[in-house]
Amino acid sequence: MIDYVFLGTGGGMPMTFRALSSLMLMYNGRKILIDCGEGTQVQMRKYHTGFRDVDIILVTHTHGDHIFGIPGLLSTMGNSDRTEKVYIVGPKGIKPVISGLLYSLKYLPFEVETIEVEEGFYLKQGKDSLEITEEKTELWVEPFNLKHRIECIGFNIELARKPKFDPVKAKTLPIPVVYWKHLQNGEIVDFEGRTYYPEQVLGEPRKGIKVTFIGDTGYFNELSDHAKGADLIVCEGTYGDDEDIDKAKKNRHMTFREAARVAKDAEADDLIITHFSPSMGNPVEYRSNATSVFNKSFVAYDGLKGTINFKEE
Ligand SMILES: [Zn+2]
Ligand SMILES: [Zn+2]
Repeated sequence: MIDYVFLGTGGGMPMTFRALSSLMLMYNGRKILIDCGEGTQVQMRKYHTGFRDVDIILVTHTHGDHIFGIPGLLSTMGNSDRTEKVYIVGPKGIKPVISGLLYSLKYLPFEVETIEVEEGFYLKQGKDSLEITEEKTELWVEPFNLKHRIECIGFNIELARKPKFDPVKAKTLPIPVVYWKHLQNGEIVDFEGRTYYPEQVLGEPRKGIKVTFIGDTGYFNELSDHAKGADLIVCEGTYGDDEDIDKAKKNRHMTFREAARVAKDAEADDLIITHFSPSMGNPVEYRSNATSVFNKSFVAYDGLKGTINFKEE
């Protein structure tokens, strides 16, 4: 399962009533942050998420409302005895921006690796952190291009699910029962001169979990292709009011209605809209503009938490 907390849900500038964009995903006790606006570490304290275990910061783009919290957060993590490497992963052109931001950090007790990502990558559970790996693991992160005023990407985060153990298949194998467990856990077993593989005791593949994060962007048709079948789409919806459609187009942002259209076309399970314009005091007032298109549309708020579980099968 994957847990999430919306640390901040605002765009543009931090307001007293709403912090800037940041979403925390939690898997197996490790944390992935998507965007890190100014004040994100304060929100982490407010919602008791902890910050030491953030292993990877996915950055959609280099507008200040999404990155100005990074140096402060890393500095605080450095003061809390973290020693494992932290990855910062973002679009083309992010490296000089991040290194400029981090220039004032004279000493950090851990390495920071900034990656300009173009292709998907696997994450594995290392000793005390998540690490980017060449190995095929259950956790996959894939970037896709958005259409904002500068280079901007979204992310699919996918957690694969092991197939069920199939005792009928296992019984056909001429090996002692003690080996079943090893095969079930994905190990290869050698017994009496023959090799046995996990597939020989496992059933059909099962659907995993897919979270699609759509950062700052204007609407375009192919958005729903990236989000196809997602359990949860988190999508920017800078403007709630349909009347703001021209503003949305001009500034390369989306309205609630457009976000809902993406979720409907993608046949997603749930949509949570975030990244609200500072001019919108109470975004939930506009929820019906989204639900009239896609029923399971929700409007985020700072501190909103949830869990995405594997579907019953
Ligand atoms: Zn923004
Ligand atoms: Zn932006």
